[in-house]
Order: sequence, then structure tokens, then C-alpha cells
Amino acid sequence: MTGKNYIGFQLSAKGETTYRTFNPKTNTENSALFTEANDHEIESAVALAAEAFPVFKNLPGAKRAAFLRAIADEILALDDTLVQTYCNETGLPEGRAKGERGRTVGQLRMFADLIETEDWRQPTIDTAIPDRQPMPKPDLRQFLIPLGPVVVFGASNFPLAYSTAGGDTASALAAGCPVIVKSHPMHAGTGELVASAIAKAAEKTGMPNGVFSNLNSAGIEVGQKLVQHPKVKAVGFTGSIRGGRALFDLAGQREEPIPVFAEMGSINPVVITSNALKNRSAEIASTYASSITLGTGQFCTNPGLILGIESPELSQFVEDLGSKTSEIDAQCMLHPNIHQAYEANGAAVSSQANTEVVAVHDGPVSENYAQSKITTTSGAAFLQNKKLHTEVFGPFSLVVQCKDESELLRVISGLEGQLTGTIIAEPDEYRQLEPVIDTLQDRVGRIIFNGVPTGVEVCDAMTHGGPYPASTDSRFTAVGNHSIKRWARPFSYQDFPEELLPSFLK
Ligand code: NAP
Repeated sequence: MTGKNYIGFQLSAKGETTYRTFNPKTNTENSALFTEANDHEIESAVALAAEAFPVFKNLPGAKRAAFLRAIADEILALDDTLVQTYCNETGLPEGRAKGERGRTVGQLRMFADLIETEDWRQPTIDTAIPDRQPMPKPDLRQFLIPLGPVVVFGASNFPLAYSTAGGDTASALAAGCPVIVKSHPMHAGTGELVASAIAKAAEKTGMPNGVFSNLNSAGIEVGQKLVQHPKVKAVGFTGSIRGGRALFDLAGQREEPIPVFAEMGSINPVVITSNALKNRSAEIASTYASSITLGTGQFCTNPGLILGIESPELSQFVEDLGSKTSEIDAQCMLHPNIHQAYEANGAAVSSQANTEVVAVHDGPVSENYAQSKITTTSGAAFLQNKKLHTEVFGPFSLVVQCKDESELLRVISGLEGQLTGTIIAEPDEYRQLEPVIDTLQDRVGRIIFNGVPTGVEVCDAMTHGGPYPASTDSRFTAVGNHSIKRWARPFSYQDFPEELLPSFLK
């Protein structure tokens, strides 16, 4: 670990601001000292990326695929050093580190397979009809081309899969865009190790210098400068609504506005029907207690909102969910700041009118550890009070008890955009679910049936995104093969000589 920035293949630490990461389990700073990138280093990283772009974008897909596969191999070669650094910077267990590493490597290999052929570019050929009346039809051939240098911001809660070599970086490199990562300050060491793997892979596979850079930052300024830089052509962000929106606005104010694909917070509504509660309330409570507390609730797909219709069964469910959740031991959060935000946001929601705390974990709690909390309110209170719609990032959920189905539908349609919605129902109710499905579909990117929203499969048919503020552009997914389309634009050749066309357009 050097604590330095990667400016292309070179390590550099010319700045004056330094910082350390934090181990929330031991409540102490980690030893490595990181140096924030200064203006000169930001400029060098972007200039190198802009120089690398024309070379990188024109490499055959198979060459870029070899680069992605080499990154995966180099990440695995970091072995225990990476796992231990990840654990020391997040308080997350080793099993989670290894699972996330597996997903990260899997994503890189998935994009490598995708770009082995040029099908991802959606080549579309409209041949000419010279004798068409009243006007001849020209020959048009369309395909997707990369946008240019991309800046990637990673999330605190996914130091591998949504960070340095995570889904945004993997898909942007696959598309032919050089990447500059604004390293997340909470896991700068994990970020530097992964950056070293990318730099090694780039040199080994003959990629142009500047295809990748990793810039340290102690605060928001480095990220802001990158988004404002005229040579940056797109931004990938995973994090809070406040952060994503600030960067989206900044990109919109540029002389040349650029797209910001921000994946942000979500409360992921879950609708539980009356018959499901009648038949299996205790089982659902147990499943949901695990989902709400999984990874200390630090998932963007955490079920933060549960919706049902008032009944004795729903009251029993609320009690069961409270007692099952509070039985689960308090767990470490990623950072003292995230823990403080959890406490403050949880207290703010719980203190709203007509809102009641059902249960709080009451065992021993160490520093930076979160007590899970289940709260409940009425449909009427939820409809009137937007503060109850706020994401509480952590092991927290609010059960909304609606008067009837009409109120339930109003609650769903009054929600902000969400990543997911879930329906828990029995087969004899399926035919009556249409209004709920329709209303939910308008608000979310994915509906889960009789399951939990936590856990995002990486595959072709996955949609990870949703109407604002779940994401800033609901037309795209941030996970799976289709996420590559965020970094490309359609382009057409008209009446081009055959010999000047790329082979897949001939
Ligand atoms: P965060 O506080 O927004 O930080 C994310 C990154 O953005 C950090 O590098 C941060 O830099 C930067 N940033 C924040 N505000 C900024 C601003 N105004 N200007 C420039 N840069 C800014 O979020 P986090 O704590 O890492 O992540 C937790 C949140 O992410 C939760 O809300 C969770 O739901 C969401 N999340 C969403 C998804 C998804 O796929 N939709 C996945 C995972 C997490 P500094 O740290 O230097 O301030």
C-alpha cells in the first residue's frame, strides 16, 4: 500500500491533504496514509484518458476482453491482502468480502464475454432502395460507439462490486471508454489495491497509458472538479440521493452538459396481502427480519417499507417482525458517520406524529454497532408526511398499515421512484393483484414475487435502476450486460463505401 494516486500507470502523491481510513470494529484509524489528488494530478489523469480514448475505442473487442479478464485474474492474485484490507476498512466479515470479490470478478468476465463479438453494439443495417419513388432511400448503417472518458464514483457499502473495478468501471471499459475513478475515502486502501490490479492488467495486455486512473479524495472537491472537466464525457455514481443529485446538477450546468448515471437510495416497498398474512405470517416475519438486518441493513435494496391492510393478522405480523428483528444481534456499521446518520435518520422517522417504535434490539451494543429498529404508522399519516418516506440506511423498516386497498394504492402511487417493489401473496389472490402490480410498476425498476429484495443477480435480464430518485435515468440498468449501453451512443454511416465500414456493418 503506497497511499498514492494512480495517474495512468504512474503512482503519484503531489498533493498536501492526507487522510486515513477507519476500522469501525476496533474503532481506530488504519495505519496507511493516503494523499488526495491535487489539481495537477486531476488534469494529468483526464488528459491521459482523453489521449488513450481514440486508441482504446478502436481496439478489437477481443483485446479489450483480454484486458477485463486480466483485471479479474490480478484481483484474485491480491488474495488475502485484499480481503483483510476490505475487512479492516468496512467492519464487514471475510465471507462478505470474498462473496463480493466473486461477484466483481464475475462481472468483469461477463463483460469480456459480451464484447468478444460486436453484437452489443446493436449493428442495424437499412440497405438502399435507389429506385424508390418519389425519393430514393439511402443506405444507412447504425451501431453504438463509446462516449469518451468516464468518471466513476463508488459506494461506501460495496467497496468491490460497485467501486474501483465494479460494474460501472467494467461496463465502461468494455464499451471502450477510459475510466477515472474517484476513490471512496472510506475504503481508499481496497481501492488502491484494486487500482494496482487494473494498472498491471493494462500493462500486461498492452492497453494505452491513461485507460485507467484512480484518484484519492478526502472530500467532495476532487469529484466535483472531475465532473466539471470538459474532457470528461459521462459519470457513473452509486451512493446517496444528495450526492448523486449534486453531481447531476453540476454536470447539467457545464457548457457541454454530460449524462450522469446515478444509482441512489431506495426504500423498496413490500406489499403483503391479507391471505399471505393469514397463512404464513410468522414465516414472513422471520424471512424479513433476516432481510432487513442483512449486512447491517446497508444495502440499496433493503426492505425499508412494508405495506399491508389493517387486520388482526397485520397487527400480529408487526409484533412478530419486531420480536424476530430485535433477537438479531447488533452488527457493525461501515463507518462512524454512517452509524451517526442511521441513528439520526431513524430517530427522525420514529418521532413523526402517529408513528410508533415497535421494537429495538436491546442487547449489548459496541461503538459503531447498529441496533435494528422496526416502526409502524398508518396509511393516512404516511400519505400526509413526506418525512416518513426518507431512506434510513441501516437495519430499519417502517410498516404502514393502510385502511383498505384504495389507500394502499394511493400510498404506492405517492412514493418516489424505487429500485424494487415486492409482492407477497397467495395463489388464490393472484387474479386480484393487477391494480397493485400496475401501480407498483409505475414506481419501481423491478418487482419481486414472494421473495426478498436484497440480493441482485448479475445477468442479462436484471434491471437495477428505476424512476428518479432511484436513478437519474430510468431508461438504463446499472447491473447486467445491458448496463454497457449507458456509455455508448448511436451513430450512423450513410451511403458509405463498403471498404470503409467496420466488418460487422458490411
Ligand atoms: P455518498 O455519501 O453519496 O458517497 C458516494 C460518493 O459520492 C463518495 O465518494 C462521496 O465523496 C461522493 N459525494 C457525495 N456527495 C457529493 C457531492 N455533493 N459532490 C461530490 N461528491 C459527492 O453515499 P455512500 O455513503 O457511499 O453510500 C450509501 C448510499 O448509497 C445509500 O443511500 C444507498 O442506498 C446508496 N446505494 C445505492 C445503490 C444503488 O445501486 N442504487 C447501491 C449501493 C448504495 P465523499 O465521501 O468524499 O464525500
